Amino acid sequence: MYFAAEVDKEKCNGCKLCIFSCPEPNAISFNEDDKKIVIDANRCKNCGLCVVGCPSKAIEIVLL
Ligand code: SF4
Ligand code: SF4
Repeated sequence: MYFAAEVDKEKCNGCKLCIFSCPEPNAISFNEDDKKIVIDANRCKNCGLCVVGCPSKAIEIVLL
């Protein structure tokens, strides 16, 4: 059981700001197929920067 960032794809507009705000390499990637981001919960360090930086409030820290 651990905390990690999770994206609500309905809210994500594909702006990629979260990718630039994330300090963990490859924790957030971009899916060219649906133009939304993907968060790798195994790489996410739960810092919350992407939550703060998302203009669409599409990311939450959740308990997995
Ligand atoms: S900052 Fe928010 S809206 Fe922009 S790509 Fe990331 S999750 Fe999507
Ligand atoms: S919580 Fe931090 S480490 Fe995890 S995806 Fe967001 S910015 Fe990256």
